[in-house]
This record gives sequence, C-alpha cells and structure tokens, in this order.
Amino acid sequence: MSTPQEFTFQTEIKQLLHILSHSLYQNNEIALRELISNASDSLNKWRHIQLTTPELRTDDPLQIVLEPQPEGRVLVIRDNGVGLTQAELIQNLGTIAHSGSKEFFQKLASRPATGDGAPDLSLIGQFGVGFYSAFMLADRVEVVTRSYQEEGAWRWESDGSGRFTIAPAEGDVSRGAEIRLHLKEGLDEFLNADRLKLIVRRYSTFVPHPILLADQPLNEQKPIWVEPKAQVTDEQHQAFYQWLTHRSSEQPLWHLHLSSDSPIQFHSILYCPPSNFELLGFGDLQHGLSLCAKRVLVQDDCRELLPEYLRFLHGVVDSADLPLNVSRETLQDHRLLPKLKKVLTRKVLDHLATLATESPEKFAKFTTQFGAILRTGMGQDFENRERIARLMRFYSTHTLGTGLSLPDDRAERRTCSLDDYVSRAVPGQEQIYYLAGSSLDSLDRHPHLEAFRRRKLEVLFLDDPVDEFALTQLGTYEGKTLISIDSADVKFPEASQPADEPARPPAPARFTRVVELFRGALDTLVADVRESDRLTESPCCLVNKQGTMSSQLQKVLATNMQGFEVSRRVLELNPHAPLIERLCELSANSENDEFIRDCGRQLHADALLLDGLIPQAEESTRRSLRFMEELSRSRSSILH
Ligand code: ADP
Repeated sequence: MSTPQEFTFQTEIKQLLHILSHSLYQNNEIALRELISNASDSLNKWRHIQLTTPELRTDDPLQIVLEPQPEGRVLVIRDNGVGLTQAELIQNLGTIAHSGSKEFFQKLASRPATGDGAPDLSLIGQFGVGFYSAFMLADRVEVVTRSYQEEGAWRWESDGSGRFTIAPAEGDVSRGAEIRLHLKEGLDEFLNADRLKLIVRRYSTFVPHPILLADQPLNEQKPIWVEPKAQVTDEQHQAFYQWLTHRSSEQPLWHLHLSSDSPIQFHSILYCPPSNFELLGFGDLQHGLSLCAKRVLVQDDCRELLPEYLRFLHGVVDSADLPLNVSRETLQDHRLLPKLKKVLTRKVLDHLATLATESPEKFAKFTTQFGAILRTGMGQDFENRERIARLMRFYSTHTLGTGLSLPDDRAERRTCSLDDYVSRAVPGQEQIYYLAGSSLDSLDRHPHLEAFRRRKLEVLFLDDPVDEFALTQLGTYEGKTLISIDSADVKFPEASQPADEPARPPAPARFTRVVELFRGALDTLVADVRESDRLTESPCCLVNKQGTMSSQLQKVLATNMQGFEVSRRVLELNPHAPLIERLCELSANSENDEFIRDCGRQLHADALLLDGLIPQAEESTRRSLRFMEELSRSRSSILH
C-alpha cells in the first residue's frame, strides 16, 4: 500500500472549515442538500458526456444513494456520475477557492456564527464551496472516487483541521463518487431513515435524478414547469425556488410561469428573490437560468437567456426545440437562445407592469431592491426602453409635498411613475422636468425649484446618477422632452403663469452695473452673468447653456472620465433679492466696486457648493472671513 500524499488547504478554505466545523448552526441539514446537489451535478455532467460522446455510453441507471451505516456511525452519499481524477481532487476539494467565495468567508468571519445577525450559512452553495459543509455534520470526511477519465480510484480524506490526504483507493471502485461522513458526536439522527426522508423531501424534491434510501426513491423529481400553471401550488413554487437558489429560508417575491407553443416551444418558471445580494456587497453572484431540453438539464447558469439588467432572476427554461446533445460550446451560438431571450425579457417587463398596478406594495419592494439594476437596461436594450421607463419610479415635488419636512424613512416617501407625471402635466407642457443631485433633501431646497413651485409644475428628483443616465438615453417620453431644470432650454407652458402674480417690476437702477462688475470678477469661471426670471427668493443660480448636459451628469463624467471638461455655466441674478438690490445702490459709489466683485465671487462659490461641487475652497473661506470681520466691525459692543 502506498503512503498517502498530504496537502494543505488553501488559506480561505482553511478559515471556512474552521467556522463550519465549530458552528452550532441548527440548520446543518443543508449540508446534505449541498452534497446531493453536487452528486446531481455530477450525474448531469455524465449524462451530457454520454450524449455528446456515444462511445462512452453505459446503461447503468443514474442515481444518488443514501446509505446510513449505523455500526460505524457513517452516512454515505454515493453517485455514479463523472467522479474525480486525482488532479481534480487536489484542486476542487482543497487548493483552489472559487472566485466568489472570498466575500462569503469575510462575511462569515466578521459576524458571530450563531444568534442574532448570524450569517446565513445556507447560502454556502452559491459561493461554490458547498462541499465543505460536510464538516458541519462530520468530524472526518472521506471521498472515494473513480473518474470516467482514469483507470485508478482515489481516496481523499480530512478531519477538516487544515490538511487533507490523497491515496489510491483499494478494492473495486465503480465510476462516480462516494462521500463518507463520519458523523460528529450527537448527530446520530442523520442515520435515521425517517429523518433523512424528511430532509430530502424538504430540500431535494426537484433533484432530477432518483435519490434512493434502501432502494426506495425519496424524491418526486417532478418538473413543475411543464405542469399547467394552475396546478402548481405555492408550496411547490417555494420548494422549487429554494432548491434552485440554495436559499432555504426565503420565499420568492414573485414568480412568472410561462408556456408557449409557437413560434417557439418552451416552458419556463422565473423567480424574483426578495432581496438584492449585490446591495449587500456580495458583488455579482452566479447568475443565469437553468436551460433544459425536454426536461433534461443542458446548462446551469445560462447567461444568454436574459439580459444583464435582469440578472437577479432565477429559474428554468425548457424547450423541446433544443437538441439534447447540443454541446456547451455550440450552445452559446444556438439560434434559439436569442429568440428565447427576447420573449422572456418582454414577458418579464410586462409582468412587472402588471405587478405595479395590481400589487403596488410588492412592486415597491421590487423597486427598492432591483430598480437600479433594471434602469441600467435603458442604455442596453433599445427595443424595450419605453417598457423599462414605464417601470421607473421617482420622488418629485408632487410626491414629497411642500418639502418642508421630509420623512426620514425613505419607505414612507411616495414615488411616482412617468405616466403619473404625464397625467398631472399642465396643458401645453412639452417637457418633463427633473433635477439631479446627491440627496433628496438638498434637491428639495434647490433655488431652481422656486419658479417651478410658483407655477405648480412638477419636478422629478433624481438622487441616483443611474437615473439621469437612463433618462438621457430615453430622451422623450409620451412626446415630452425630458429636461434638467438647470438648463437654459427649459420652457414654461403659458398656462402655468400664475394669474394673481403682479407683473414683475423692472430691475432696479444700476442693475447693469452690478452685472458688469460680476462679469469682470467671474470672467474665467462662468459663461455669462445675466438677469433671471426664474428666481423669487434666492439671489442667484447657475444655469447650463443651451444644449449642454446637466450639471450632475457633467459632474459624474468629470469624476469618471479623464480629460472631461465641465462646460462653464451662466450665473443668473435675481434683481429683486434684497442683497442684489442693496448692491445696486452701493454701486453708485465706485469705492464699493471691489466689495461688489467679492460678493459676486462668493455667490458663485456658494452656488457651486449647493450643486455638490467644491469651489476653490481656500479663496472662498478667506473671503467669507473678510466679510465676517467687516460685519463685526459695524456692530456695536454696547447694549442699547
Ligand atoms: P460547486 O459544486 O459549487 O463547484 P463544491 O465545493 O460543492 O462547489 O464542489 C467543488 C467541486 O468539486 C465541484 O465543482 C466538482 O467539480 C467537484 N465535486 C464535488 N462533489 C462531486 C461529486 N459528487 N462528483 C464529482 N465531482 C464533485
């Protein structure tokens, strides 16, 4: 007998094993689910290899066997799938960590493994490290295996403490893999047939191969997606969702069950998870749908079936028009895939539109979790732009009321759709107004809004840069141009002119002098200085010249694109603001010229600040210090 070769686990796997083997996690039955799932994957691979390489065909029935061995306190999970070669054992079970797994380890390591806020270990399968959950049940694990690619068989063994060994296996080992769990103290329940039945029924009903215990199949293997829609129960959907996603404690937010006979034949069930893992900082998770041909899995995680912006959906698509023996390489080019993608995308977007009207609460949840991903579709999917636009939701001057006290909880703030907006537009309104910025509160206080509030024109608030990109891509909606209200291209409809508003008095005398002084001071900083008719209270605001991008979009581009030059804007002055009126008076005396210029510089700096742009800070703070010194000199120290 040759001596076993010893190996050290890769560092992150070592950490993971430490957590798993010490966890008191009650849900340790998920380990069984993971091992059964691996066995099923291996059987799928074998079936596929046989289909594409007929000379390898065998007729042993593909199955998974559970075998409790009470005398040795061992639970065996056996499959007759592809098996593992020596190299695969070394790599897949010990030395190479799956790319997505690092985040999972970090999340696990940074929180206690039990009690409140415990990380959900049941997610383990999504990170490509499901095998290691065996150490939740066992203090010693053996894998005895023979690959279809090798003559010899191997025995992998570890106690989970940092090392594993590999040696040639003795005896007659048939193709496939046998996982031998030497159960931990106190886990004898995993030798109990009734308990095992329950676990399999709970987590593995949909495994597409028979799972046998004492020669009895435990699972139904029912492909619910080919059943008539009305016959599938909520419980079945929940179980199927949990099997697909490896998320044992979750219910899907919604599902969509589709069947079609022409022009392409397919059945499909799609599920939307209740929460977006990407928002929790897990990065992009494995995504894609399972593709089946006549109920047989052809490919997991098939990304070609849905666009990137619907990547959060899980599910299965089964088409009889797909040949069973299509290889993974040629599958990507198969002409059926783009057709399926088109139909599925359309159906999902239509379903969301229905959800929005029929279950607004569910739709609101959906928007909070996945709205931002969905909106990226506006730039990717020209054909469905309008459909996606219809699903966008915004806060606005209308939904947030007067804006004097915004509720702190975003969930309590109402949103509206573009259709809602259009239905409230005043007669003759040709544009849809929006304002982009970094927070709702600062948007709500923006001087640009004064004119719109006065005219009772609704303005949408965009507090996520994705929104503005999306709207820019869209350009128009229902014949109305989407426009940022800091643009000089803004047009006010006649009908919005407040009837009771007195005619605007002419600008005070010497206003042109103030404008001239401001122009001189801001020569290199602004495109122009001019009178404004949009302000009622604020002394000034910055407006974009005709045809230029909104300030926020420019800001985003400037931070992300090297060499992008922000275009200079127009400083508009409100001649009736108290400060400007006073400056007009003071301009009669040329000794005040420099002071007026300084006011111009400071107003400009403050306007930039309001837009979230940092003006030349040093100069601006020195100037405001000077103002304060001057003001304090004019105050008296004696109480009158
Ligand atoms: P994942 O299955 O998500 O890749 P695992 O940690 O569960 O992650 O398994 C790692 C790898 O080990 C699998 O990708 C597969 O190549 C191999 N493997 C695990 N179990 C089996 C099995 N029963 N038969 C063949 N290969 C297996």
